[in-house]
Amino acid sequence: MRGWRLIGAAALLAATVGIVLVPAAAGRGGRHRDPADAAGPLDIRAMGVDQAIRDIRLHVRTRGGFGLEQLDRRPDLAKQTDRFLCVHIHRAGAAGVRQLCFGPKHGGKDVLGYARLRGNGSIKSFERIRARVKRHGPRSIAARFRASAIGLTPHVYFWRYLSGWRGPPCRRRGCSDRAPSRRWAKFHLRPVQPVGCTDGPSPVFHGPRHHKRVALTFDDGPSGYTPRFLKILKREHAKATFFEIGAQVPGYASNARAVIDSGNEIGNHSMHHETRPGSASMRQTNRRIERATGFEPCLFRPPGGSFDSRVISDARGLGMATVVWDVDPQDWSTPGAGAIYSRVVSATRPGSIVVMHDGGGNRSQTVAALPRIIHTLRGRGYHLVTVTKLLHERTIWGEVH
Ligand code: ZN
Repeated sequence: MRGWRLIGAAALLAATVGIVLVPAAAGRGGRHRDPADAAGPLDIRAMGVDQAIRDIRLHVRTRGGFGLEQLDRRPDLAKQTDRFLCVHIHRAGAAGVRQLCFGPKHGGKDVLGYARLRGNGSIKSFERIRARVKRHGPRSIAARFRASAIGLTPHVYFWRYLSGWRGPPCRRRGCSDRAPSRRWAKFHLRPVQPVGCTDGPSPVFHGPRHHKRVALTFDDGPSGYTPRFLKILKREHAKATFFEIGAQVPGYASNARAVIDSGNEIGNHSMHHETRPGSASMRQTNRRIERATGFEPCLFRPPGGSFDSRVISDARGLGMATVVWDVDPQDWSTPGAGAIYSRVVSATRPGSIVVMHDGGGNRSQTVAALPRIIHTLRGRGYHLVTVTKLLHERTIWGEVH
């Protein structure tokens, strides 16, 4: 048993937020055990923090039962007045602590209280973050949330759970527990990236017409122009899809890589831009893209827009939907940036797929037209998304190897 009187709130905070970070021995798979060392229902018996692709998972088992509505998700640890069950996460080599606390649903949704703490333990900022909370009985709780929701980037982190309980069966000063009791546990948040996607109906010329979403697509890269497109997309917070020619990928591998790293998507545009390519050309292209980027395409763009049932089924056999377009400004014929701009914005409707080019020639007109295209479409209420998102398919994430 460890009462508040013995440890003191100040000591608890100092020990929690302080800079003495000695990692505890890690249990298997991020699971740790804590002895029966506190009174009250929130004596922590087992706990862990681990990574599930883009998410962080928390899990805790306590000695007694508790209800979420009994917990305060924004406790004041210094005042000893609250009941709480929280985890503190500390980035190695950085100041400050992130505090996540369980609590009741908010507006019918599962949330965690997320506070950033100053070095002295006081709350610097507070918000509720969305989480999926699961309970396998009154004595255990697990939660899962996006690492980015609390700004965690790949790095080494230290963590520790804290609990406090006022009222029976605890005495006047209440009960508290820390787990691990003396040290912090460690976990390594590993980098993840898109590694694939799910394919939908095939062929497609556009997405659903009832959403104000548009997919800008760029064919015939990767090329020396690709970074200029990525720079504009990043500045404008827009996403796009790049249909790449396999033969060009090794020579511009870092540009292909940059497409994925910046949150854009890559599709397959055959090995040598041949009309109605065979399965071997498609497969070889996917292999090159995957080797360069770690991402396996699920979209195939037929060169020249030419396809037949054999092309569709060959692409399907490799897990790819055939994606054509419904807006074509013919930017490859270099009609001038003004013509490219006006052709795109006059033809675009909800769900449109726009074909342009980041390779295959001098693409400076397309580069010049792109910011105006994005501004005008935005002004009309469109979201600029990848083809996978436009078609309501899913991006699959995995660890970077
Ligand atoms: Zn092409």
